[in-house]
Amino acid sequence: MSERQRASLLPPRRVFEFGAILVAGGLFTTTAYLAFQACPPGAFWTPLGLVFLGLVASDAISGTVHWAADTYGSPTMPVFGSFVRTFREHHSDPKAITRHDWIETNGDVCLFSAPVHATALVFVDDPWVLSWMTGLFMGSYSNSQIHKWSHMDDPPRVVRWLQRLRIVLSSPHHERHHQRPHLTHYCITTGWANGFLDYLRFFRILERVLAVLGVHSTTRNNVATPVAVRPVFQGRSE
Ligand SMILES: [Zn+2]
Ligand SMILES: [Zn+2]
Repeated sequence: MSERQRASLLPPRRVFEFGAILVAGGLFTTTAYLAFQACPPGAFWTPLGLVFLGLVASDAISGTVHWAADTYGSPTMPVFGSFVRTFREHHSDPKAITRHDWIETNGDVCLFSAPVHATALVFVDDPWVLSWMTGLFMGSYSNSQIHKWSHMDDPPRVVRWLQRLRIVLSSPHHERHHQRPHLTHYCITTGWANGFLDYLRFFRILERVLAVLGVHSTTRNNVATPVAVRPVFQGRSE
């Protein structure tokens, strides 16, 4: 059976993406409910602090994934190639993300995160870990939407308010990543982790460690070189 015939038997990608968003919503609601149920009566500040730490972790993870796609691999590599291309094209055309609809914006992060979340839920019943996971996956599932809002000229009023309070990634903060050579401010959920990761030169140190292990940056002079934007990307506009 040819590649084309096999592809025609699969449901459209949007069906997978919409299904992943629904599953992710169910997993998040379940985790928050289980955390609430499992916490000792009267406990408030500890679970709230752990939700906050989960959000910080999700921000750091978003930065690490973004840095990896900016720095390693190639848009033509198997499996992760389209993922790498998405990040590199984003440097060339930052506004493209604002033209994505709700499913296209949020489908991929849910497709990647929901299987990890579902697996973790099978093994975790500790109230504190469940509280931390609530923050972690709240950030993970929303990072693409938050990133899109940071590029919009006119995001919803409540989002502008959240951006001003630095509860979600603000446009001026994220704009610093979009200045060449795109080597700082990788985190795109809340932006809270950017300060300490950049201060520690975390990603530069990680690059040196990986170079010692034989893994080298595929972008010239360690600079995330933008790729030319294709008018049509796998049937999508990006
Ligand atoms: Zn980037
Ligand atoms: Zn951006």
